[in-house]
Amino acid sequence: MNKKISILGGGESGVGAAILAQKQGFEVFLSDFGLIQDKYKTVLNNYKIDWEEKQHTKERIQIADEVIKSPGIPDNSDIIQYLKAIEKPIISEIEFAARYTNAKKICITGSNGKTTVTMLIYHILQKANFNVGLGGNVGQSFALQVAENDFDYFVIELSSFQLDYMIDFKADIAILLNITPDHLDWYNYNFSLYAESKFRIAQNQDESCFFLYNADDQVIIDRLKDIKSNATKLPFSIYSENKLGGYATNTHLKINHHNPFEMNIYELALQGKHNIYNSLVAGISAKILDIKNPIIRESLADFKGVEHRLEKFIKVHGILFINDSKSTNVNSCWYALESMDKKTVWIAGGIDKGNDYAMLKDLVKEKVKAIVALGKDNQKIHDAFGDIVEIIDATSMEEAVKASYFLARDGEIVLLSPACASFDLFKNYEDRGRQFKQAVRKL
Ligand code: ADP
Repeated sequence: MNKKISILGGGESGVGAAILAQKQGFEVFLSDFGLIQDKYKTVLNNYKIDWEEKQHTKERIQIADEVIKSPGIPDNSDIIQYLKAIEKPIISEIEFAARYTNAKKICITGSNGKTTVTMLIYHILQKANFNVGLGGNVGQSFALQVAENDFDYFVIELSSFQLDYMIDFKADIAILLNITPDHLDWYNYNFSLYAESKFRIAQNQDESCFFLYNADDQVIIDRLKDIKSNATKLPFSIYSENKLGGYATNTHLKINHHNPFEMNIYELALQGKHNIYNSLVAGISAKILDIKNPIIRESLADFKGVEHRLEKFIKVHGILFINDSKSTNVNSCWYALESMDKKTVWIAGGIDKGNDYAMLKDLVKEKVKAIVALGKDNQKIHDAFGDIVEIIDATSMEEAVKASYFLARDGEIVLLSPACASFDLFKNYEDRGRQFKQAVRKL
């Protein structure tokens, strides 16, 4: 009799897992508590995979030997609580898919910068002609790629929600970018639990593996001793030199792994302090994979960046509009403001995930000439910055862009970097970024 598997969630991750499971001979049932998009229904029907929507039928789901959970389903949902109570094994799509590939896996996690670093490493590997796939939180799901391709390498972006349900998965190269408060609502407002989940990226690593970590991040340094593996640990830093991994001086990136690599930071495609970390760690990964220095240098210089991440969109009458819609927490917003080199009108706000704005105050004093608060409830922004700069409220992107255009002058910047989630006024951060660009085009 076939082994049975149930999949919770009918989005990119769940549908990818369903296809792979079916190809591997499992009897598959997919269940989504909400509506499944038409394009995914079509795929499921084409593959003759059984599915349901708008409900989780426990009787059917629990028949399976194992359950694959999509990352968007909260731990405190009824169905997860129930499955845990009956001790049904629950895994993530990444855990499942890794069982069916021998490819080397380069995995990236952290609170901020995951997508940027994932795309940057993918870019370098492609330039070096590696047979490489891209998966996890970006693009097509990892499971689908395993089902449909035969890659030698995978670059995989991992959120803590995926890491939480990974058990035997082993990252050949694991990258931990930073750990700052985000998604605490998912971790009972317990920062320690959240940090622990990020560290799962290093579990199961052995002496053949590498663990790359941010040596400037105190949370990471404090927990480093908890890593029990024999992986080679390589630090990266922009403040202190180190012999093993890489670091940045005021002018250069320096990587010591294998034959030394050096590059002027002004030649990097991605500018801003946070991006020095990103370029550094991508460079170290490439060195581990024996990619030649000229290819690394060229790739770090010509990378196009990722949409909605400090994306310099266009200038209108000398005012530069920057779309950083993906900045959904205070830390990423700090780096955005920090990298502004002109007076800035800052568009911020949305759904606040328990933000503490204190760390932004100095930067706001120094760089921000006015704030346009864009959200249904802007009170916390007024409380935090009302005594420092002028604040104008807006309830639509068009209004916000018009107001910021009115406030900014030739040579200045308008920065959308909300520090908040987008769901009050927009479908998601992509929708917010696109509406921003549309409104700017109309000026
Ligand atoms: P993630 O996938 O982790 O959400 P992204 O690469 O999509 O990260 O970037 C999210 C936001 O964080 C963007 O606003 C970006 O400018 C900012 N950011 C990128 N890299 C870093 C970093 N290393 N540290 C802090 N913020 C960063």
